[in-house]
Parts: sequence; structure tokens; C-alpha cells
Amino acid sequence: MKQKRYSVDQILEEFNSRSKLSDLISKYVNLTPRGNQFVGKCPFHNEKTPSFNVNDDKGLFHCFGCKVGGNVITFLQKNNNLSFIESIKYLSTYLGIEFNINESRQTDKTIRLLNILEKANSFFIKNLVTNNFAKKYLVQRQISLDAQKFFQVGYCPNDNALIDFFKKNDVSIDELVDADLLIKKNNNFFGRFRDRITFPIFNIKDKVVGFGGRTITDSKIKYINSQESEIFKKSEILYGLTQNISEIRQSKQIIIVEGYLDVIAMYQKNIKIALSTMGTTLSSNQIFKLWNLSDTPYICFDGDKAGKSASENIALKILEFLTPGKSFKFINLPNSEDPDTFFKRRSLDQFEKIKEESKDLSDLIWDIILKSVDSYTPEFLAKIDESIKFYSNKIKNKSVSVEYFRYLREKKNKFFWGKNVITKRNKNQENLEKIEVNINEKLLIVFAIFEIQIFSSMIEEITKVKLKNNKLEEIRNEIIEILSGEHSAEIDVEVRLRKKYSSIIEKISQLNETHLKDMKKKEKVLFLKQILSNLKLPELLNEKEKIKKQILEIKNNEEQPKLITEYNHLVEEIKRIKKKNLE
Ligand SMILES: [Zn+2]
Repeated sequence: MKQKRYSVDQILEEFNSRSKLSDLISKYVNLTPRGNQFVGKCPFHNEKTPSFNVNDDKGLFHCFGCKVGGNVITFLQKNNNLSFIESIKYLSTYLGIEFNINESRQTDKTIRLLNILEKANSFFIKNLVTNNFAKKYLVQRQISLDAQKFFQVGYCPNDNALIDFFKKNDVSIDELVDADLLIKKNNNFFGRFRDRITFPIFNIKDKVVGFGGRTITDSKIKYINSQESEIFKKSEILYGLTQNISEIRQSKQIIIVEGYLDVIAMYQKNIKIALSTMGTTLSSNQIFKLWNLSDTPYICFDGDKAGKSASENIALKILEFLTPGKSFKFINLPNSEDPDTFFKRRSLDQFEKIKEESKDLSDLIWDIILKSVDSYTPEFLAKIDESIKFYSNKIKNKSVSVEYFRYLREKKNKFFWGKNVITKRNKNQENLEKIEVNINEKLLIVFAIFEIQIFSSMIEEITKVKLKNNKLEEIRNEIIEILSGEHSAEIDVEVRLRKKYSSIIEKISQLNETHLKDMKKKEKVLFLKQILSNLKLPELLNEKEKIKKQILEIKNNEEQPKLITEYNHLVEEIKRIKKKNLE
């Protein structure tokens, strides 16, 4: 396979997005962090106290002693005694990419193309002002005048107007084709963005490199983008970065959404940290660029199936590049909603809330692993182990890889141990009552032995449940009896139980070590509540079936609404318990 060759600009861009200047310089200079920067003793003059500064955000170094400063190329030229081209070659080796000398000479043409696109953008903006049809569409979409201005929204008129305008500016039809503003087809020319609302797309240097276009007629293709080219590289573009950069730098937060209208919808809700890629993927280039601006960017794709699977694909892609301290989080929008529809129905507070509840990358990976098996038989448990190994090994960074392995293994143990459903269990099996739930029964008794205070505080609920295991039920009854007795405060429940049921208490006591030991009191209270819910579940399921039968059989129409309400309550309650169980 032929490798891609990079131009000078691309190599510099690649360096800025993938590496830190301080990393490269620290090969030659001892650097120590100070605030956002690094300092060290200057390699270019003799000094005792460090006055040599490196700023990774800007990609620049500067010495306050001898006033030498510049970017990575300047450093290599001076420090390693290299020519400009030699420095570029050094850098490309450093980055592991191939350098294309020829391409660096083509910049004249590139500059000309960028100029044409810049002109087109101004032309489109002017055209929007005079086109009522386009303006009306934007009003309908609730895109404010402020947002239109901020994102430089425009309108591309018919082909003759476009060609005329550029003729006056000495731009030929061939050049318009090169700039992808016109499409050539059988010696005819068509405007790529004809009759479309235009959204200029900028590169990292704030130059217009292409457009997105939204139809306002009934064209079958709603959205189109500029075609991939030397200047329009989808894998490098982050839409909204030019506009939102200052807020992103300040907050060090980023939310990646699916499209430019989502970026604009966020902006209109005063969330000025949203960006989108061209399509729901992330390239390594974009991942590193994002990490330079934020340690943990959020992904917030649509809540539908496509959005969810795009998020999962991105999660798997990111793994390879993870380094200590860098990750992603995933915001879960409600079913089939996008940021635009979300904000039409809900408040900013509600968004903040789901943002706070966003999922860590590691937990999303666990979800993906769990989803990949059809049942929880020993064979599939082994498959989960294989997946845990596989995904951890994908992470190139050793220490992150080790931590992922540990975390996912723990997640697995908790998931299966916590419920003690090691016996064969079908994932989609609805009949929970058939499953051995005695871990919950055991844990209830463990609480009585080790956490009598918490146990007592929920005695009312505990009285209501029945344990299937006869011995445990006997113990439970005895505890209730002690606690409700006159001298309950003076009786040491643990001692009494250990005396009478020594062997069984011995056996279940280890659950204290594995399940309760590291919990805070608050967590223990919640845990006991969950155990009680689990114990109640079989009965709730029975009750649900009973009511369902009644609803189907009953002829009395007056009774029915009441039963249905009751039924729905039960369904909700069961859902709630099951959901908690999976967390
Ligand atoms: Zn110096």
C-alpha cells in the first residue's frame, strides 16, 4: 500500500495536533512544568536560573535571557543545526510520516483556491440578505439573526449569478470547478450549492475550505458538502472550531454533535462549545486536536439507533490512542432526539443534567462487551474474558491498557457476582422468579450481622419480604423477633446468631468482605434498599401476571381503568428495579 505523503503545512499541522512541543524539546532540555508552561535552562545561552519557556498551547518557545524564540522548526534549526528542509525531514521521521517535497511547491494554487472560496462566502452572505425565500426558511428553522451572522450563513443563487460574479473577479469557470463550486458534467456546468443555504466550513487556520449546503427547494438530497480535496479534508475538519474557539479554550470543554445545525442549535442555547465532524466519525487527527483543547470531550450524537451505534464505533476507535489523563464521555440523548429537538422541548438545566450523567468511555466499552454475548453460560463468560483482553490490548499506552483490563475485569466480577446468577441464565429470559436469587437473601442476613443499625432502620420493609431458603428465613424471623422484643437494645444480635447458626453464618460472612467492606454508609443504605427490591421482584412479577389475567377476563368496564393503572404502576416498578440491577 502506498503511504500518504505530507506537505510542509500538513507536517506542521500534524505535529501541532499529535504532539507537544515540550515533549520534543525535553529530549534536549530538562523541563519542569510551571503553570500552563514548561521552563528550563536555555540551550542557546549559558545561564544558572531557567528563563527558557515552552508553551504547548501555542506551540512556541521563548527565552527571556537571550530573546531566542519560535516554533518547532526554529528550535530544530537552532538546536540541531539543521536547514529548514532538514528540520521538516526530522519532524516527519519523528511523526512517522512521509514528506512530499513537491507538494510544498504547490502552495500558489492552494492560496488562489482559498481566495476564491473566501470570495464565494462573502457572495453567499450578501445573497441571503436579498432572498426572502431563503430567509423565510431560516425563520422556520428558528435560526436567529445572531446565529446566522456568527456562523456566516449564506445562500447560493442560481448558476448564472455565480458565474457572472466570479467573471467580474477574474475567476475562470475551470477554477470554479477546481474550487468545487461548479460541477462539470458532459460539458455542462452545474452549481454544487445552487439554491441552497450555505454554511462555510473553516480549517484550523480559520480559512474557508468548503461549504455545507441545505436545500430549501424539494431536492431529494437535503444536505451536501464540498467534495474531499487537497484543501477540504473531512478527516481534519472540526465544524464550529473557528467560531467557538475562545469559549472552548476558556472552559476546556467540547461537545461533539452530529451536524452543523446541531452546533448552531447549541449556540442558540448559549452552549458555545459544540463542534461537529463531517459525518459521525472521528479520525486520529481530530482526536488529537480535540485532546489538545480538552482532556475529556463529550460525544453527543442523536438518541436514535444510528446515533448510538456511531457513538460505539467512535468509542472503539478512540481506544487505540488513549493516553493517561485523556478520554471521552458520552451523553445519552433521549430516544430519537437530537440537540435541536431536545432544546425545543426541554431546558438548559435538563441538558446539564444529562451531561452530568454522561457515560465514561470505559463503561461504554463494558456495555459493548456485555451486549456481544447472547447468554451467560460459562462459554460466554469466557468470551467476555476474551473481549476484555482484546479491547485492553487495543490501547497502545501500556499503563492505560493495564488499567482498562483491571477495570473491565472488576466490572465483570461485580456484574455476575453481585447477582450470583452464575447458573445458566438466558439474557432475554423474562421469568426472573425462576432464577436463584439467594445472594440477595444471604446479603440481607449479612446486613443483620455486620450492619445492624442500617438493618433496623429498614425493619418494616424487611418484615414484608419472604425468603425462599428455609434456613435463612428462620434466621430472618429470629432477628425480627429480637429487634421487636423489649430488650432489643441490650441483645447483641451477632453474638446470638453466631452461637445458634455458626456454620451458616461462617459461610455467608465472607460476603461482607467482598460486597460491603469498601462502601460508605450511604452506599450501604442504598445497597440494602436494592436488595429488598430484588427480593420483592418475584412477587411483583406474579402480581403483574395476575392483574394482566384479570384485565383480559373482566367484563366490567368500570373496573378496567383502575386495573390498568395498577398494572402500569407495577410495570414501572419492575422496570425500575431491573434497571438498577444492571447498573
Ligand atoms: Zn537563552
